[in-house]
Amino acid sequence: MRLICSFVFALSLLAAEPADWIFTGRYVVTMDPQRRVIENGAVAVRGDSIVAVGKQGELDLRFKAAQRLDRPDALLTPGLISTHTHAAMSLFRGLADDVRLQEWLERFIFPAEKRNVDSEFVRWGTRLACLEMLLSGTTTYADMYYFQAVVAEATKEAGMRGVMGETIIRFPSPDAKTPDQALRYTEGFIRRFLNDPLITPAPAPHAIYTNSDEALKASRALANRYGVPLLMHLAETRQERDDLLAQRKLSPTRVLETLGLLEGRTVLAHAVWVDDNDLRILKSHNAGIAHCPSSNTKLSSGAAPVQKMLDLDMAVGLGTDGPAGSNNDFSLFEEMDLAAKLQKLVTGNPQALPAASAFEMATIRGARALGLEKQTGSLEPGKRADLITIRLDHPNAIPLYNVYSHLVYALKSADVQDVMVNGRVVVRDRQCLTLDAAAIRAKADEYGRRVQRSLAK
Ligand SMILES: [Zn+2]
Repeated sequence: MRLICSFVFALSLLAAEPADWIFTGRYVVTMDPQRRVIENGAVAVRGDSIVAVGKQGELDLRFKAAQRLDRPDALLTPGLISTHTHAAMSLFRGLADDVRLQEWLERFIFPAEKRNVDSEFVRWGTRLACLEMLLSGTTTYADMYYFQAVVAEATKEAGMRGVMGETIIRFPSPDAKTPDQALRYTEGFIRRFLNDPLITPAPAPHAIYTNSDEALKASRALANRYGVPLLMHLAETRQERDDLLAQRKLSPTRVLETLGLLEGRTVLAHAVWVDDNDLRILKSHNAGIAHCPSSNTKLSSGAAPVQKMLDLDMAVGLGTDGPAGSNNDFSLFEEMDLAAKLQKLVTGNPQALPAASAFEMATIRGARALGLEKQTGSLEPGKRADLITIRLDHPNAIPLYNVYSHLVYALKSADVQDVMVNGRVVVRDRQCLTLDAAAIRAKADEYGRRVQRSLAK
């Protein structure tokens, strides 16, 4: 008997397939179509991709891995996906809070941007944001700001995945005097990063009310010419909705539909002021929605009808927005928690947006919102290896009855331990391996003092 056993063991070693990594965890939360949660699970990675997901014992027999990371007291989940942010604004974090949006923009943000934002500001701000996002388990993010070629460079340097949206806006901006100039910059940027394994370049017209119809249509045409998504803010405030109703007798969503802006992959941030008809329109165009509950509550914008969007199986993900004023950090753990609670509050129904749905929004549904669901958002063979481990041995995680409940209501950003993006370990035991954290901290402090001085003028 012993002979047979050792024979089988030797055979299995001979037959072992090569892998670059095996990760093991107490539970693997796959977010695959069956939503499997595998106790004593493992994920095998070869190159940039996942090659197998299963029980640790099975994978150990099947693969011979060059390296392994065993986390017997951790969850192993897909990397989190932020569908809307403005990364470089990290350098304005907490500059002015608890003021009205107009005052915030006119007294603080516009002057601070005018006097400080250049390509190096964007580079360091993006590095700071990527460091914070990676350490809090975010592996993919969608950004809207200026100098997106620099944002893309910093994102690649961090080893993150990104959908980078170059802002097109009616006013002179830090990197373009006119919308035409912004569109030309965007086309050059798209061409440069079109087939990049980590970066999806995109035009990002700021909003309907900050662009001419012509600039909006030109942005859509540009996106479709290169097969990239279009990123935009939509129906964030009641005023935006009321103004468009008064001016055009159309809701913001109907304006987009009428202009043909929804004809192609679209990622729309906020969608707070949308009615049932708007939702049907957005669903029929398969639009991605970025729900940003921290931003929407902090700026008193309102509560997006997320449960209705989920009932329609829309591609709605989570975003942090900000981080200056509208939300002061990049934590998707906070967004999951708040998204779930906000729907319960506004619907009067504690069953609205359950934990498993909130985690889905931060992973596979968020990937759908960005059009990246074939690449990321779940742990499945063939997908890129974007995964994180989250510690279960801190007091806030004990005991454990339900993994989704913990992920949404109990675990925190600081519980994230390791992060892999595209098959590369970028955070190990809370140390970021790709970015120089000390240099980023020093530079961010320096920018902070500079911004402060610029506003005192
Ligand atoms: Zn925004």
